[in-house]
Amino acid sequence: MRIHINAGHGGKDPGACGNGLKEKDITLTTALLLGSELTRKGFEVSYTRVSDTYFSPYEIADRANNDNSDLFISIHTNSVADISVSGIETLIYKKGGKEDQLADNIQKELIKTTGFKDRGVKERPDLIVLNSTKMSAVLIELGFISCVSDSFKLKKQSFLQSAAEAICKGVCQYYGIDTKESNPLDNIPDWQRTGFENLVSGNVITDKDYWVNKLNDGITVGEVLGLLGNML
Ligand SMILES: [Zn+2]
Repeated sequence: MRIHINAGHGGKDPGACGNGLKEKDITLTTALLLGSELTRKGFEVSYTRVSDTYFSPYEIADRANNDNSDLFISIHTNSVADISVSGIETLIYKKGGKEDQLADNIQKELIKTTGFKDRGVKERPDLIVLNSTKMSAVLIELGFISCVSDSFKLKKQSFLQSAAEAICKGVCQYYGIDTKESNPLDNIPDWQRTGFENLVSGNVITDKDYWVNKLNDGITVGEVLGLLGNML
């Protein structure tokens, strides 16, 4: 399964600009983060661009068509004159086809993760990258650069990472791929798990997530002293 990821705009075309942001930068960062997430889930990934380069909409569609991708995902951010307009929307060529489910999954996961206003899934038969790509295609408008509160979040790499994870989750659901992370506590012996749970319930360990992610790591002197100190 190959997914073509298109970072909207690029090079001479910055896309929407405002609140100290350029659309072409946000789309590139998000596209690369999304590519890493999808690769981790076993998808083959190709990109229209991995640097600040311009391709016309027809060139973008050609690139996706020529590398025999099964799916096309274009990342954009929105902008309008009314700075109170905000939220995320997912665009598809036409409703009533197999893209509906994919777009719904992505949109739902994005809203759940980001808390952005849900502007829904919309038809855009006029967009070249949607009407000239041969495979299922979605275009995600990841918030409004023109809106102060949206752009405040779009500035953060951590936000773009969680958006990339949400999009990946939507894609995985569409293909029936399990998105549940395995619980690290299931992968250690019972006596260790029991001990760990005792430390958590006894408030010796107060940051459970931190330790859960280190169950098979070495331990530093600082961590030993910290744990011992918490037991006093
Ligand atoms: Zn755009």
